[in-house]
Amino acid sequence: MSSGDMYSGYIGKLIEELERLPGIGNKSAERLAFYIIGLPKERVDKLSNALTEAKEHIRCCSSCCTLTDRDICTVCADEERDHKTIMVVENSRDLAAYEKTGKYKGVYHVLHGAISPMLGIGPADIRLKELLVRLQEDVEEVIIATNSSVEGEATAMYIAKLIKPTGIKVTRIASGVPVGGDLEYIDEVTLLRALDGRTTL
Ligand code: ZN
Repeated sequence: MSSGDMYSGYIGKLIEELERLPGIGNKSAERLAFYIIGLPKERVDKLSNALTEAKEHIRCCSSCCTLTDRDICTVCADEERDHKTIMVVENSRDLAAYEKTGKYKGVYHVLHGAISPMLGIGPADIRLKELLVRLQEDVEEVIIATNSSVEGEATAMYIAKLIKPTGIKVTRIASGVPVGGDLEYIDEVTLLRALDGRTTL
């Protein structure tokens, strides 16, 4: 029985919803629910508004597809960045991880996933078409920074094959990024080493 069942009505419902979030088990959901109930009304309003507003206003950048509240995200809009170098990542959290290093000066492309025949996710299910459109502009290098999981590697190979005929340089970040590891959880030094050690595909 889920911990939500032990409490009736509203508390149970709150625990149940929290329990559906990734990484939140029974105990954490219960702890969070009681914490939220104990908060002053204004704090709870702020929290629920933040959830609703994020869902309402966040969309994909019309250039790199990262999640943003603007038509063009701040990275793409920055004229100081090197728009001829595009780093391909699986999701916006990976982009954020590289941005936190403050060292990468190119722009990004966010795929929103990776190719996975096992899960029935094919090339048409990720933002590849959008990437190919961008490659018609003046691009010198595409750095593929998908995860080193089976899916990430398969995606990297697929993209490399697609881009090769265009003559644009395609590189892959060095492994050293733990297999199956989310880029988000890797420290900055490892990320920068992976980027510096990238090899041409
Ligand atoms: Zn963008």
